[in-house]
Amino acid sequence: MSTGTSPVPQIAGNTLLLSELRQMKQNDHLPHALLLHGEQGCGKKEIAEWFAMLVLCERKAEAPCGTCRSCRLVRSHAHPDVTIAEHSGKRGGFSVETVREIRSEAAILPNSADMRIFMFLDADGMSIQAQNALLKSVEEPPAHACFVFTAQVQGVLLPTLLSRMTAKAVFPASRGECIEALIRRDFPEDEVKTAAARFDGNIGRCIAYLTEPAVRESTDRTAALTAALAQQDEYRLLQLLTEAAADKEQLRKTLGLLDLQIRDAALMTLDSGAVCMGCDRQSAEQLSGTLTPRRTARMHGAIAEAYADLDGNVGAVLTVTALCAALVNA
Ligand SMILES: [Zn+2]
Repeated sequence: MSTGTSPVPQIAGNTLLLSELRQMKQNDHLPHALLLHGEQGCGKKEIAEWFAMLVLCERKAEAPCGTCRSCRLVRSHAHPDVTIAEHSGKRGGFSVETVREIRSEAAILPNSADMRIFMFLDADGMSIQAQNALLKSVEEPPAHACFVFTAQVQGVLLPTLLSRMTAKAVFPASRGECIEALIRRDFPEDEVKTAAARFDGNIGRCIAYLTEPAVRESTDRTAALTAALAQQDEYRLLQLLTEAAADKEQLRKTLGLLDLQIRDAALMTLDSGAVCMGCDRQSAEQLSGTLTPRRTARMHGAIAEAYADLDGNVGAVLTVTALCAALVNA
């Protein structure tokens, strides 16, 4: 979680969710286990932090006030009653040992607040063993314990665990809300507008675009690739792919994004308002006009083959040359 400068995390959009949670606090009906689910970058961690402040705030009527001792400690990630489970392993899950430690910690009374909060952020990679180890604590939680999970989809958690949780969806903000939030964070307005157009209100992905040159490079290139593909401009396609091929990691990222663009374009053939997962709605729209189900499937297949070639140590330039021909002829 990032420590912001405002006393309370500024959440863009999701007003209904925040007011529901606030209502639960007012009525003393806070859940003992909360799952916040939604696409990557839509603000789940910020809301998790906001929720911890809400639960622990010393001023119930104004919670989260952002100014009491408790709120300030949560905001600076120093509250003794908030524990963030550490990730481990290749898939970024949680080890059974970590879960066991948290389980025994959960049995102990809070240090200074009424509740203890245990966070499992990015729980998508949580193994079945780790989930099972946690099950009993979530099934019969001590009165003072509250577990907060964030994940991209609900389905990554075991039904037994899920059935004990209050699951809430987090949605990306609207493009306007996203622009407003990023300008408040002092990013230059023209860059903010480009980023928001790329990611349609997903603030986390906009911030990555604005602060990480490698993300910006692969994103801009993929938008150009999608447009070239829509125009069947083989020369431009090969030129862009060859540029990407200079760095295999960049090439993999670009191929992953291009695959999402094709997915978005295919969805748009059915529903022009479909939620996008790629990086440029405008070029995906152009591409959607040229797609048939068969063409979409062949494009996905061509990208999968390119991945396999890269994994099999085929040279990057050779891979993109074959890919380019396959995409144009798909
Ligand atoms: Zn407070």
